[in-house]
Amino acid sequence: MGEMPAAVQAKLEYKSEVKPTWCPGCGDFGVLRAVYEAFERLGVDTKDICLVSGIGCSSRIPFFVASYGFHGVHGRILPTATGIKVANPALHVVGLGGDGDAFSIGAGHLPHAIRRNPNLTYVVMDNNIYGLTKGQTSPTSASQFVTKSTPYGSVEDPMNPLAMVLVYGATFVAKGFSGKAKELTELLVAAIQHEGFSFVDVLSPCPTFNKVDTFKYYAEHVAAIPAEHDVTDKLAALRLALEPEKHYLGVYYQVSRPTLEQRVEASRQKVRAEPQRELEELLARFT
Ligand code: SF4
Ligand code: MG
Repeated sequence: MGEMPAAVQAKLEYKSEVKPTWCPGCGDFGVLRAVYEAFERLGVDTKDICLVSGIGCSSRIPFFVASYGFHGVHGRILPTATGIKVANPALHVVGLGGDGDAFSIGAGHLPHAIRRNPNLTYVVMDNNIYGLTKGQTSPTSASQFVTKSTPYGSVEDPMNPLAMVLVYGATFVAKGFSGKAKELTELLVAAIQHEGFSFVDVLSPCPTFNKVDTFKYYAEHVAAIPAEHDVTDKLAALRLALEPEKHYLGVYYQVSRPTLEQRVEASRQKVRAEPQRELEELLARFT
């Protein structure tokens, strides 16, 4: 028998020994497949990848990838991922977690990660529900959504994650659907290649606890971003994000801005250029 093709050999390297424990039909399987495919496409060595997650069904994902991983505490993906990236800028750092983790307990970290613009990717597997705790309303659940925590319907309106990160100034903003794995792979490749903070909101159905936002529902409500869309036009991106009942898939916005690591390095060089003065100033404070 001939040798296995190189592409197949490489793909197997990204799959860990741990089998996913998600329910059959969970949207997160499609995201995992796209993660494998994206790293395969980019040809990144597993030793150069660090996946960072929080708490939730989707946050188990680092276990299933044969790279470095950090399964942290609830809502703290972004501070952890930022610290890892600044400490080792050579790593491809990808944060992955759910909508509850990202937009409820972790929401306070989003604007700060965005204004710092670290060169990392943040993928939110958005199913509009808390799956791990067995089906409560999340920050992206629709108004009047009936769950265990809102038996008479949610009295809150949902967040709009894309509009939020666009307004905060994220330099790469995209939306994918786990039911369209090929397109999602392309988005992840573009997000990982982007030099700066890249945000990908992924419609990733929870068939166990969310019987409304299903694969079928999304298949009928997604549309590709119009070909004439200018990805450097923030207002046009915002208009797409604010369109009710439409889920545009693709890259909404992409611009270039210095990254946190570049700015940290520039700051370091300033200090190195004047080590004597720094030392003298410090000593003067204590004499
Ligand atoms: Fe996926 Fe929902 Fe099952 Fe969690 S509860 S593994 S989100 S289908
Ligand atoms: Mg969720």
